[in-house]
Amino acid sequence: MAPVTPAILSALADGVTAITPNRRLARQLLRDFDRAQQARGHVSWRSATVLPYTTWLETLWRRSTDVAADMSAMTLLTSAQSLHLWRAIVDAAQADLLDPAGAARLAADAWALIHGWGAGGESWRAWRRDADFADDPAVFATWAETYSREMHRSGALDFAQLPDVLALHARRLAPGALRAMFVGFVELSPQQQRLIVALTSQGADIGAAESLPERTPTASRTASASTREEIIAALVWARERAKERPDARVGIVIENLARHRDEVLRLADELLCPELLLPEQLAMRRPYEVSLGTALAEVPLVLAALGLIALGEGQLPVGEVASLLRSPYLPAADTAWPGRAAIERDWLESGQRDVALSDVIAAAQQRSPELAARLHGARDALRKGAGASPREWADAWRTWLSAAGWPGSLTLDSVEHQAREAWEALLADFVRLGMVAPRLTRADALRTLRAFAQDRVFQPEGSDAPIQLLGLLEGSGLVFDALWVAGLSADRWPPAPTPNPLLPLHWQRECSVPRATAEGELEYARALTARFAMAAPEVVFSSAAAVDDLPLAPSALLLEYPECTSPMPAARTWTHTIARSATLECVVDDHAPPVAAGTIIAGGSGIVAAQSDCPFQAVARHRLGVKPWPPALAGLSQMERGKLLHATMAAFWNALRDHASLALLDASARATHIEAAVARGFTELTAARWRVLPAIVRAGEAQRVATLLGAWLPLELSRPAFTVVGTEIKTTLELAQLRLSLRIDRVDALDDGGVVIIDYKSGRSEQPRQWFDERPRASQLGLYTLATPAAEAASPVRAVAYAQMRPDAIKAIGLAADAGAWPDLTELSALDRFPDWGDLETWWRTRLGALAVEIAAGWAVVAPRKSPSPCRYCGLQAMCRIDSVQLADDEERADE
Ligand code: SF4
Repeated sequence: MAPVTPAILSALADGVTAITPNRRLARQLLRDFDRAQQARGHVSWRSATVLPYTTWLETLWRRSTDVAADMSAMTLLTSAQSLHLWRAIVDAAQADLLDPAGAARLAADAWALIHGWGAGGESWRAWRRDADFADDPAVFATWAETYSREMHRSGALDFAQLPDVLALHARRLAPGALRAMFVGFVELSPQQQRLIVALTSQGADIGAAESLPERTPTASRTASASTREEIIAALVWARERAKERPDARVGIVIENLARHRDEVLRLADELLCPELLLPEQLAMRRPYEVSLGTALAEVPLVLAALGLIALGEGQLPVGEVASLLRSPYLPAADTAWPGRAAIERDWLESGQRDVALSDVIAAAQQRSPELAARLHGARDALRKGAGASPREWADAWRTWLSAAGWPGSLTLDSVEHQAREAWEALLADFVRLGMVAPRLTRADALRTLRAFAQDRVFQPEGSDAPIQLLGLLEGSGLVFDALWVAGLSADRWPPAPTPNPLLPLHWQRECSVPRATAEGELEYARALTARFAMAAPEVVFSSAAAVDDLPLAPSALLLEYPECTSPMPAARTWTHTIARSATLECVVDDHAPPVAAGTIIAGGSGIVAAQSDCPFQAVARHRLGVKPWPPALAGLSQMERGKLLHATMAAFWNALRDHASLALLDASARATHIEAAVARGFTELTAARWRVLPAIVRAGEAQRVATLLGAWLPLELSRPAFTVVGTEIKTTLELAQLRLSLRIDRVDALDDGGVVIIDYKSGRSEQPRQWFDERPRASQLGLYTLATPAAEAASPVRAVAYAQMRPDAIKAIGLAADAGAWPDLTELSALDRFPDWGDLETWWRTRLGALAVEIAAGWAVVAPRKSPSPCRYCGLQAMCRIDSVQLADDEERADE
């Protein structure tokens, strides 16, 4: 295993403190030092002192407060405290910003750059007065002035100012015995140099050391077809290196790792530890470690805590609360989560968009009573009152979380334990906020807590895994046995400059501020490339040949390295390999259990229609109770609108009863009847449902239904005289061995004999010529016809019709035995198919009976009607997997 240079190891053994730009290099130095001691046969040794730069500053600060009373009177703000102060200043400025939090972060960065790369003075003051400067620096200068004043007033300083304060008081630090070396820094800022000069002038011995060993670079470069292929090649290469030498330290550095993190981790799991595909291996230790942490707010355990706190404080969107209810960090989650997950469906179906704690408790009464009881009991722990100190808020949140059962009843693993510790540290930091914000409102407290969690990076303790996946900065200065640096295409390397928009450009240029200029970025990229080339005996630089069909060249900085053909054969992921190599076994599974004779089957006419459209859909929907996931609605659902229309039509005819009464109404009486019918029909939805809908939705829907009804009535008037026999008639039909429960929208008795069956449709209806496919369409009217003789034996059916209630096409569509039954409908003889109505009923009895036999036998093949395809509105694709079958067919055809 490649260690850092012997010079560094010997200096560490000699008691010199190593200062590193980041925590990762500090960890590597410590590990290398300990291994070197073991290799020399030592059984005990004095620990090396290796500190990241900011930690070293803190130790100097603590030393200064020990020896100087005036310095101990000052408070060193944490980064979170100073960011909060910036946010307060930005908010108070009322600058009408789109993203005040982002502006506060930029301001904090600008403040750090001024101190790190400026001459140590208060340069922002000039920007405030100089009319030549652009708006943003002038605004920043005002904010900086306020920040500076506030710091002065409260006797505080921050990390940006700390090195200069320490330099100023270097003599009082008595640094005579201080021996330190800066290791692995690409460049030192002027502020760091000022501090070093001040300390060395007082006798300190501070130098710089290169962590990379002297060697002749042997790097090569390669290119892959795409970014994905490039990452796969790097991972396979790393896997082979780790296999060849199990003690090797293998690195993969990825430019813009943050952007590709999720894909990199997915591929790393597949290629480096495919055992994870097996469920019982979930807790296995991965052979790789990724340097880039995630925001603490996105760590599931903390996400659950933040969600519970937010729920205790007010309303949240349904999706957010639903994901909280599925969290494993609630009590008894392992057994109770399916019931809790179903609550989301209840909310979506009832059209709720935001829910409060009381809604959660009410919904959980049915689905997860133990959770409802716990949350109900925990409510007392919630803090009353609008404002409190950060400590009081933190105490209340801790009590509420504990009463609500967070973090659940499962045993936490190591990473979860670390997340919990990070959460406690976050709350402790929040409490410290009292120094700059003695009192916070409920909304401010919650917003600040969330911002803290979002800004804090959670990186579980390193496992010293053999393969390290790193970002450019984290990888710089580390030593490896083999290193792959990916993502170095010409458009990304050197990176485009990203100057801080709050600082004048010319100032950033003059001060050589990092990331500010193209020249600076070129120098930086050149230096980093050279360092990477030295970081291992075997180094590969790579780039993608195209991204999104855009051809890319490798970075010009790589051209000096020899090109190699891909050092690894093109590799596929395991899932791809398994999918491609598997010999699929064909299992015929097209039958559900049969239905016992005489059973009243659920679904009524719907199951017959579904069986005709697609047998699998009928079984899944009506026998297994599968429903597609409801969409999030802003108003009424399609089903609710259909219900309201049906109920209004029924209410209208229940009141009016016949054609003659309708004919007697003048326009105003007709409008009154319509209004009354709408009012009665709208009671179909519960008061609770109407309460969660905006009043405008109800008013708009009432107007829509009234307009439809008003537009339909002239068609009724033009019909031969009738009397409504019944609406919403419940009946049963025995077909083959099945008993179907049916509900017929309306049956009219014609004055000259016989009945007409009407079914209201808010969608488009099919014309009678389309009804008589091999597998019947419009089966509903057929079933109603077969069921009606039983109820109306004395009155034969003379017509069946869909009342199509679409605003753009209101009409009656159906079949009539003779023109006198309903002249607007198609007369049976026009079909040239059935000599008389009896033949039509026989056809229906035979074909619908055959469907009933299929249902009874459990026939469940995935065989949707070709045209019109029922799949468009079905929503069960995830279960029937028709799409994968079609995809496989397409692939087969493509292979032929
Ligand atoms: S999506 Fe199509 S194939 Fe699948 S169940 Fe529905 S109708 Fe049948």
